[in-house]
Amino acid sequence: MILNKILFYISKMSGGFHVFKWLARHHPRILMYHRVFPDASGRAIHPDEFLKQMKQIKQQFNVISLKALISQYKQNKSIPENTIVVTFDDGYLDFYDHVYPIMRELELPVTFFVTAGFVEQRLWFWPDQLRYLLDYSQEKTISTPMGGLEVKAQNTWEVIADHCLTLTQLKREEFFSDLQTQLKVILPDEVPDEYQLVSWEQLKEMSSSIVDIECHSMSHILMSQVSGDALIQEVSDSKSLIEAHLQQPVKGFCYPNGLPDDFNDETVNALQAAEYDYGITAYPSARPLEDIWGITRYPIGTNFYEFEKVIYGIRYQTLS
Ligand SMILES: [Zn+2]
Repeated sequence: MILNKILFYISKMSGGFHVFKWLARHHPRILMYHRVFPDASGRAIHPDEFLKQMKQIKQQFNVISLKALISQYKQNKSIPENTIVVTFDDGYLDFYDHVYPIMRELELPVTFFVTAGFVEQRLWFWPDQLRYLLDYSQEKTISTPMGGLEVKAQNTWEVIADHCLTLTQLKREEFFSDLQTQLKVILPDEVPDEYQLVSWEQLKEMSSSIVDIECHSMSHILMSQVSGDALIQEVSDSKSLIEAHLQQPVKGFCYPNGLPDDFNDETVNALQAAEYDYGITAYPSARPLEDIWGITRYPIGTNFYEFEKVIYGIRYQTLS
């Protein structure tokens, strides 16, 4: 890993990046972000770090909106050289507080996929509730269907979250009530500041400039877990709700969790029936636009080295 990093920076200093960049010039890098705020736990990108990333792509790449990339590709199968697209998922308030001012200052387009049912509802995402329960618990261990777990161990959140993804909403609620008992923490009625979501008014303000607001379902449930009326509510009612509030068409759908097993043919049929233009996932591939109902993206974390590997096309060389 350290050797890789040294070789990486030698390559950067000696101009080797130009070769990678040139090799990847027809490969659009669609970046996927979630949280940007000052945070010591490493769960969010610091606004200063995000500004540094955005300045770098503005200087060295062709940053366009997802909408523009897709419409150009649909028209003549062409992709502008050195294209980078910025997207954000979920609908947290920190987008309005930290991302929007930076994108406005730099005049960079960004797509924001919001979970329609959560806007202003004062509800919070269950993965965040899980984080809260583990953070505030004084207990050392808990027993779960996956065995005994240490509350403060690094991977505990992930192990429990993975288990929750396999449960129906009802089963997950039962599981959470047992977790609260075991961890001796009660979830507050009010959403804590860190997990606040945007309001319709803020979305309306942003959608009038450089931000495209698109849909990330109604309740952030996995699309592979719903069908029939429930699927229509997640895909179609969510779209109508955003359109009614913003008075603008919604054309993009971002699959919650976004891995290959998290959506299926029935999901895609529902998207087509609701007149979406595309569906977007949460993993990268060598040909991001090959399937317009499974557009692929690069998750971006807090590591600047990994960010540079993505934007200069070094990660591209490892994809199939
Ligand atoms: Zn999400």
